[in-house]
Amino acid sequence: MEKKIYVTQSSMPPFEEYVEMIKPLWENRWLTNMGEYHKELEKELKKYLDVQEVSLMMNGHMALELALQVLDLPKGGEVITTPFTFISTTHAIVRNGLKPIFCDVKDDFTIDESKIEELITENTVAIVPVHVYGNICNVEEIDKIAYKYNLKVVYDAAHAFGEKYKGEGIGNFGDISIYSFHATKVYHTIEGGCVCTSSHDIYEKLYNLKNFGIRNEELVVSVGANAKMNEFQAAMGICNLRYINNNISLRKQIVKRYWEKLNKQYMRLNCYDDNLEPNYAYFPVVFENKIKRDKVYQALRDENIFARKYFYPITADAACFRNKYKNDLLEKARKFSDCILVLPLYSELKFEDVDRIAFIVNRVVEEID
Ligand SMILES: *Cc1c(COP(=O)(O)O)cnc(C)c1O
Repeated sequence: MEKKIYVTQSSMPPFEEYVEMIKPLWENRWLTNMGEYHKELEKELKKYLDVQEVSLMMNGHMALELALQVLDLPKGGEVITTPFTFISTTHAIVRNGLKPIFCDVKDDFTIDESKIEELITENTVAIVPVHVYGNICNVEEIDKIAYKYNLKVVYDAAHAFGEKYKGEGIGNFGDISIYSFHATKVYHTIEGGCVCTSSHDIYEKLYNLKNFGIRNEELVVSVGANAKMNEFQAAMGICNLRYINNNISLRKQIVKRYWEKLNKQYMRLNCYDDNLEPNYAYFPVVFENKIKRDKVYQALRDENIFARKYFYPITADAACFRNKYKNDLLEKARKFSDCILVLPLYSELKFEDVDRIAFIVNRVVEEID
């Protein structure tokens, strides 16, 4: 059987290095509850992400849920968000008792800031934009709108690890940004995530939310869940952080190779904003129509190459949401969803495999034109 190529492959630190890291855990038996590695990783990430506060979480979804919860938004409040995202974004809004109001996207797949204002009502409480594929939202314009209408902004930056916009860590925009450190992401802690904020008060409240509201042996100050990151995760995070810059530069080379090899006459490739230091998290390709997209997807599958239809369907059309929330006026989001395919991209992907993938994609689109 031929080898399989998936859309991504988790990066791993050298085995011995990770083993050395976790060895002390057999001595001190401190496996979770804000241990040494948890503290160290929060400190290192503050530096790497160039943000003031980092609160580690067990995963990106809980980071997002607790980020919305910590803002104490009125129940039933409306949250303007994008349907062109992973389902987690919409779930986090709904699970906080808030109502998603879907806004269409732009050609760069992020929320169309020019359409936000017309969706604002007296019930609007927040905006939850997503930096899709590492493409950055129009953070300046969104900040202005939020200021004008007194709205909170929580960025889902799950795709944007390590990115800088005009030299500033992307996690500094809005009130809060969250990252995912899931095994499939550019940077991972197996499962994991974090919340970034410039507010120490929010950091302290998040600590309570992720740790049952427990401050010491006898003091429980508030109602909280359990969303702590454990020491094995944090140790993986510390190891992976040593290789992240190298991984991102390898990704960059692969993206460049795809650009050289794919026939751009028949598809649109993703461009980055000039002010962005990208992380090359994903390689999305937009085909002319759904039929072509689906044919390319199948042709790759037939060769054991598993590209992904991210994001298809849009979250507004998910079976659990489509009859509950307004989902019209999402023309672009739906069009991209029908025509997009994310091709394999990870630091260890070989140029010869990139060439093979590009050859198959080109063959299909050229054939049926
Ligand atoms: C991965 C992801 C999440 C959820 O993160 P997990 O760590 O898997 O819980 C949320 N939003 C987006 C856009 C994601 O890609």
